[in-house]
Amino acid sequence: MNANLIADVAEYLGVEKPYEIRISSKPHDWAAGFCEQRMRKGKIIKHVITLYLPSIIASGFSLESVIAHELIHAWQAEEGILLEGQYHGEDFAYAAADVEQTFGIDEVYDPENDTE
Ligand SMILES: [Zn+2]
Repeated sequence: MNANLIADVAEYLGVEKPYEIRISSKPHDWAAGFCEQRMRKGKIIKHVITLYLPSIIASGFSLESVIAHELIHAWQAEEGILLEGQYHGEDFAYAAADVEQTFGIDEVYDPENDTE
């Protein structure tokens, strides 16, 4: 995987805040990756994306598809559209299809698993 790809996807999405990507050797119960926001005084100061390696391996998704997926959540958070119950709503599906097509990444959005 090319390091430029991560930076290019983040820039394409318009993610402005810094982001940190961690790779964990632990599995996660229900997610291959997770994106959380660090806040100060009600504002996002950075995104922390954790990738759960065993869960990614078990899912069969590529590392880039999971990173691209989580970067879309980072973008949603900055836009104020990362809303409970709509994490993978229309905005997400549209952005994911766009990123898949633009960068040739498969399965950024998986409707069977990305249900919430
Ligand atoms: Zn997601």
